Amino acid sequence: MNTQLEMTNGVAAKASVAARPARHLHVLTPLPYAEGALAPIISEATVRLHYTKHNKGYVDELNRLVANTRFADLSLEAVIQATAGIPEHVSIFNNAAQAWNHAFYWRSLAPTGGASVPPVLESRIESVFGTLPALKKELRTAATTQFGSGWAWLVVEGNTLKVVKTSNAATPLTAHLKPLMVIDVWEHAYYLDFQNRRVEYVDAILDHLVNWTFVAENLSGA
Ligand code: FE
Repeated sequence: MNTQLEMTNGVAAKASVAARPARHLHVLTPLPYAEGALAPIISEATVRLHYTKHNKGYVDELNRLVANTRFADLSLEAVIQATAGIPEHVSIFNNAAQAWNHAFYWRSLAPTGGASVPPVLESRIESVFGTLPALKKELRTAATTQFGSGWAWLVVEGNTLKVVKTSNAATPLTAHLKPLMVIDVWEHAYYLDFQNRRVEYVDAILDHLVNWTFVAENLSGA
């Protein structure tokens, strides 16, 4: 079973946040491939709109919102932890988390994804889920049952792997889970290519675009 994470009451981290130099601006993380590299599964038009409008919009709005606040000099991760679950800072949290989630989403995909799974990762997946198709089935269920906008994640929880889903901007970072990969299931991620057929978008990612090398790298650092 996958799990719906409730992040609205996330606990804000306190003094462990790392300060950054004054006047720090968050930057739009470069795409790790060309805008057309995921076509024909995810079209160049979708990637361009998603990256240069939605993703950039979150980064730009975050910079606007944190200017001249106590969050202005914090790293992106620190802003997320410091604003999670605090109603008066929900806009900052939403834009910071969306900036982080999107940078992670782009890296979770690759034009050559879906091919081979590194052996260490494969054995870990098999020990937890039984088979790789069983993991894909859990991710598919999480991604297609997330009501409305959100995300489906493979994460490390303690010593095991787990599939979770989050709503809107919520991110496993605030639940102290380590993300390994994510699928964006906001409509802007797939509507130009798949219209309302979210399940086809999710299946296409799982079968052809997951960057399993990136997943394995995240696991080795967990
Ligand atoms: Fe998105």
